[in-house]
Amino acid sequence: MGRMDGKVALVSGGARGQGAAEARLFASEGARVVIGDVLDVAGMRVAAEIKRAGGEAVFFHLDVTSAADWRAAVQSAEDAYGKLDVLVNNAGIWRGGRVEETTENDWDDMFAVNAKGVFLGTRAVIPAMRRAGGGSIVNVSSSVATIGVDRATAYPAAKGAVRTFSKLTAIQYAGEGIRANALLPGPIETDLLRQVFGGRDISARTPLGRLGTPADIAFAALYLACDESSFVTGSELVVDGGTLAE
Ligand code: NAD
Repeated sequence: MGRMDGKVALVSGGARGQGAAEARLFASEGARVVIGDVLDVAGMRVAAEIKRAGGEAVFFHLDVTSAADWRAAVQSAEDAYGKLDVLVNNAGIWRGGRVEETTENDWDDMFAVNAKGVFLGTRAVIPAMRRAGGGSIVNVSSSVATIGVDRATAYPAAKGAVRTFSKLTAIQYAGEGIRANALLPGPIETDLLRQVFGGRDISARTPLGRLGTPADIAFAALYLACDESSFVTGSELVVDGGTLAE
């Protein structure tokens, strides 16, 4: 018995990092997984690995800033697997800089992918989840969306929008059995973090004395995605090695 038996899950940004870990874990727990990303080769590789391990997965090209791509991805998920129960809005990009160093382009890019992408994905999957009789949406925000950070502007602001958006989605669709929760990772060892810190060792900055792994986040996403969290909606799950508790 898998914790995701019978579920069909779409993971945006599933070609690498946390999204790939979520796709692999969900599949190993019995889900049929749809991976969407702009990185076609890497995404196809993750889907192929899942299949080789005995799981079910397909890859579709998905740019989360495109409403048309989202429509096609949801249609493809329903065509491939008959329904859609879970969406992880995981795709994200990073750019740093204090307010005066942030260009309008930086701001627009951050909000296009990290905030509008979450809105477009949610809007696209709701009719499918309604057809499926309910669903679970996991929106990846960030621990930096809860505090004032010195070195970044547009990224934490967009991730803050995701927190609010998760709660309003939860309230608007609770009556239809569609749940929405935010996942707030701290520093997780991925390409994105390497871009932020340029390979510097920051493991001592977390009370637990290490960086998180993609698997640490995948287990949290699994809980929010599956029926074990059926009474959890509009909530926020912080997975940050204790950083925000300090
Ligand atoms: P990552 O860079 O390894 O993965 C991000 C994925 O999103 C990539 O596969 C990328 O191709 C995809 N992506 C980017 N733009 C896209 C678009 N327009 N359409 C579709 N896919 C797109 O980074 P990660 O750490 O695995 O990031 C996953 C999520 O976690 C992101 O939302 C990120 O902001 C968030 N997050 C990361 C950390 C961290 O420390 N790594 C901390 C907090 C939150």
